[in-house]
Amino acid sequence: MLYETFEKIYALERAGKKIIKLNVGEPDWKPPKSAVKAACLGMKTGAGIYGSSAGESPLREELARLHGCKKENVVITPGSKFGIYSLLKILLRNGDAALSFSPNWTAYGLMCNSLGANLKLIETRQEEGWKANLAGLEAAIDANTKIILLNSPGNPTSVALLPKEEEELISIAKSKGIAVLADDAYRDLCFDARKERQFDGHTLIAGTFSKTFGMTGWRIGYAIAPEEMIVKMAEMHRITITNVPVFLQSAALSALLQKEKIARRARRLCKKRAKLAFGMLGSKLQCVKPNAGFYMFPRLPEGTETGKFLDSLLEKGVAIAPGGAFGNYKNHVRISLCREEEALKEAFEKINSAL
Ligand code: PLP
Repeated sequence: MLYETFEKIYALERAGKKIIKLNVGEPDWKPPKSAVKAACLGMKTGAGIYGSSAGESPLREELARLHGCKKENVVITPGSKFGIYSLLKILLRNGDAALSFSPNWTAYGLMCNSLGANLKLIETRQEEGWKANLAGLEAAIDANTKIILLNSPGNPTSVALLPKEEEELISIAKSKGIAVLADDAYRDLCFDARKERQFDGHTLIAGTFSKTFGMTGWRIGYAIAPEEMIVKMAEMHRITITNVPVFLQSAALSALLQKEKIARRARRLCKKRAKLAFGMLGSKLQCVKPNAGFYMFPRLPEGTETGKFLDSLLEKGVAIAPGGAFGNYKNHVRISLCREEEALKEAFEKINSAL
């Protein structure tokens, strides 16, 4: 549903229509200049050749330092999406189940289904601020459950679990012998500036350069896991992608070395935009105020047909995503706050007028 909308929008753009695209989870900030420079230099100086399937040592070592583990616990992946898929492929067999809070990122269900497994959804509620439903999660665990997918802050709500809620979730999983995969795509964008997640030997980590560093199309991410899983993931790379381009890894390393400054700037921008969005849309749309990231996931006023609303908005030149792409949330929409202030204001005015 989400990916089909993209095609519709691309077709309109090809036909010359100007569209403010708030439907994609893609930051509008540019990749760090030093990363661009490092990528170009790498290409010019011979780093365009095959490399290690697990990733280059300098990048793996720096990531290991950040996450408190060994280089052997780190693999460089072509975007975190591929890393998440590889981990699920290692852990899930036909008929197994993964658990995730809902609403959630569209790709989880698609990945599990493609592996013959089920994604069991644990509903959370807007009325409760999308608060983690830990009791529901614990009750849903059964003999088939192999992994809990923890995405905090979450796509599409931009709400982060409290640290003590995360701890509780991890301890439930440990006590039941189930893996946890922390998809930390948006963690750097928590408005309360969370510390880097440290590898505890149990919780698997998927990280990405896409969001914090504005490097979505570069396709580079990483996973942190016990050594034997990293070996399997590297094997999977060997039979599929071979390796993530070496010059991209040099670029990622140079971005990583400035992470604190870049993440601080991105967080500040996200917070400012969330405030603007909440101020301009909050009176017409019921919404939880985001405490992280760059999404809003409001419910449309009663009686509004989501499909018709999205089409009429597209006519006005604004694209947002249907809530149904993130679970049983047909009356919701996801708005990505990924444009400069002027474009956001124009889009919010159009949303209000379409309502
Ligand atoms: N995880 C979540 C929750 C996402 O929303 C996304 C992308 O939108 C990703 C992971 C994947 O990001 P990438 O493959 O670009 O690293």
